[in-house]
Amino acid sequence: MKFTDFGFDGRLMEGIDASGYEDATPVQAQVIPLIMAGKDVIASAQTGTGKTAAFLLPLINKILTDPHEDHTNNALVIVPTRELAIQIAQHMEGLSYFTSVSSIAVFGGGDGNAFVQEKKALSHGADVVICTPGKMMAHIKMGYVKLKGLKYLVLDEADRMLDMGFYDDIMFIISNLPKKRQNLLFSATMPHKIREMARKILHDPAEINISISKPPEKIIQEAFIVYDTQKIPLVKFLLRKKDFKSVLIFCSSKISVKQLTRELRRSALPADEIHSDLEQSKREEVLMKFKSGRLSILVATDILSRGIDIDNIDLVINYDVPHDGEDYVHRIGRTARAAADGTAYTFVSVKEQRKFLAIEKLLGKPVTKATVPAELGQTPEFNTAAGSRQGGDKRNFKRPMRAGGNAGNRRPN
Ligand code: AMP
Repeated sequence: MKFTDFGFDGRLMEGIDASGYEDATPVQAQVIPLIMAGKDVIASAQTGTGKTAAFLLPLINKILTDPHEDHTNNALVIVPTRELAIQIAQHMEGLSYFTSVSSIAVFGGGDGNAFVQEKKALSHGADVVICTPGKMMAHIKMGYVKLKGLKYLVLDEADRMLDMGFYDDIMFIISNLPKKRQNLLFSATMPHKIREMARKILHDPAEINISISKPPEKIIQEAFIVYDTQKIPLVKFLLRKKDFKSVLIFCSSKISVKQLTRELRRSALPADEIHSDLEQSKREEVLMKFKSGRLSILVATDILSRGIDIDNIDLVINYDVPHDGEDYVHRIGRTARAAADGTAYTFVSVKEQRKFLAIEKLLGKPVTKATVPAELGQTPEFNTAAGSRQGGDKRNFKRPMRAGGNAGNRRPN
């Protein structure tokens, strides 16, 4: 699903574009229309699924386009840790960069100066307040936080908040909010106590479940950090190094499928291709050859990543980084089916590093970085900061906001 399908304001679209997002992730595709329609939502979604933008984007759009009171805090996002508050504030800053929507991050552990800044912002009113429960409760108790016009409440990582003992703080904060508001609850897991809490807070919520399957442990996963120009030589090197019986190579576009197949054939590697430009009968013929073992190297677009049963594939190569974690799991799941072992290599170019980091986050651990043979030349560094907003974006972001940031007054450097 494209972001243009949601009918977002043009200023927000600029922020999405500048953040480098192209298609919506599955959680975004499901959650955004519901939030836009004013529904309460309870969603089970882990970190790495794009859940932050799934709630920030519709909130920013609503604040931009729906009438709301000035000089009040409009949306409250409650999160378990200061790290998450900072991360969401950075997301917020990037996505709202071209809008007049303001935001502040309010979390514990700061100095007196930070408290004064937070107090000033909360008593003046910010559009989006991203806070940890204890600190927000402390501010509310002092009586200056403007909450009368608040319209949106988000509880992020709700299961973690309950595990950390924040239930009472959260309920205290909520008891100070207007009754009529839109509520969104995100949680990686849905134990009974979360459902109980949801029952008290949400009104007739739509329920979304984005459970990401993990790849089987027995698949050997490795990533090669390369320049784009090194990808073709690297495929050839790997295919020659070991005698793989059945190799499936995924490319993100038809063009790269065709180009890679041509190159492999030129080097006498027996490859064929499958993509949507081919007639159905031709596709079936190629697939049959591959399944029966008469063809050992198949280069394909994502049409083959889901649901097609091919056993005995011993190597999957992600020639391009898949779009999201779900695609990654489906693609590499083509190998090591049943009892067999399998290997999955992923080629990560410089511009794909951020996407790959998001996938690693979803998998819950980094994928081993393999050494590129010296004969292919120097390789780029793997920049783990590319996963944060500052490193991976097309423009420089300011430091994470502490308080009182008004994105509308900022202009790109
Ligand atoms: P989250 O699950 O919210 O922690 O997001 C995980 C990562 O995915 C973050 O680095 C986001 O910037 C990134 N991300 C979120 N939505 C998209 C999208 N539609 N396309 C590409 N990257 C995204």
